[in-house]
Amino acid sequence: MTARVDAAFAKNLPKVELHAHLTGSITPQCLHEIWTQKKSGDPSMTLQDPLEAMSKDKVWDIMTFFPLFSKYIYELCSTPASIVYSINAVLRDFKEDGVVYLELRTTPRSSSSMSKDDYIATILSCIDDFPHRNVMTTYLILSIDRRNIPEEAMEVVDLAIQYQSRGIVGVDLCGDPSKGDISTFKEAFHKAKLYGLKITLHFAEVPASSSLLELKTLLSFRPDRLGHVVHVPDKIKAQIKASKLGLELCVSCNVQARLIEGGVADHHFMSWIKTGCPVILCTDDVGIFDSTLSNEYLLVAQAFNLSRDDLIDLCDQAVEAIFGDRHEKQRLCALVKEARENRMPID
Ligand SMILES: [Zn+2]
Repeated sequence: MTARVDAAFAKNLPKVELHAHLTGSITPQCLHEIWTQKKSGDPSMTLQDPLEAMSKDKVWDIMTFFPLFSKYIYELCSTPASIVYSINAVLRDFKEDGVVYLELRTTPRSSSSMSKDDYIATILSCIDDFPHRNVMTTYLILSIDRRNIPEEAMEVVDLAIQYQSRGIVGVDLCGDPSKGDISTFKEAFHKAKLYGLKITLHFAEVPASSSLLELKTLLSFRPDRLGHVVHVPDKIKAQIKASKLGLELCVSCNVQARLIEGGVADHHFMSWIKTGCPVILCTDDVGIFDSTLSNEYLLVAQAFNLSRDDLIDLCDQAVEAIFGDRHEKQRLCALVKEARENRMPID
């Protein structure tokens, strides 16, 4: 028997974050600083202050959530300087929360001052220059947006291949689940697999993206992990279980964006734990949902009455599902082992 889980324990756990969108992980405060800088250079700028646009009282759903990125944050972070500033802040925030291994994901984008290639190279340089790389290692996943045409999807995969040796480990499918025809991405994901990139997919987020046809097509891309897995029919669930796919569960995101009904205790976390698939707690967009990874561990522990040992087991499962190599796995396994040995006994 061990002591109860509290915030300090959750923070000290050697956590692995596998589903974090770079842009969504920027805090409103950091965006506000970028906005202030921009506004001083261009007082006629009409973009709203992020502290208002992303206020804590805001209620998110898929109608308000996706335009926030495509129409707002992208516009605010469109120059190399703003990207460097924001990614450094994101890396610092994860490290300060006790994350020891991070896979960030982003959709390559261009602006008037930057090509997609420049965008990716800038992010990778920030990761290389991060001063705490011995404490937290970071890799990058490139995302294909569901609204992409097949040529754009292929361009994402080609960029991932081009920068694979610099720390790109996988390709993701993301974006508004009510949009796009995912069957057009078959070739792109096939090529990614061919070049040894791992695959993760946003999967069954809303009923509109959960038809048997869509889910079967997505599984035919041979993913290594799936994100969200909210509306999964039993037949598909059995397939996921048989393949032991890693499952990235984003509890606060699902509750706050109303992808599920009810609160944390109503989340499908426990039903997936029972399948034996590796379950990985993730933040998705900590800048929007305002819940750090350690808070996600705490919330789940409180809602499902989990012990300190249960949370260490969760950290262990997350290590199993990383896209990094065996050296990373060994490093993380050692950290989890240390956490297990040091967990505080009940007094
Ligand atoms: Zn996501």
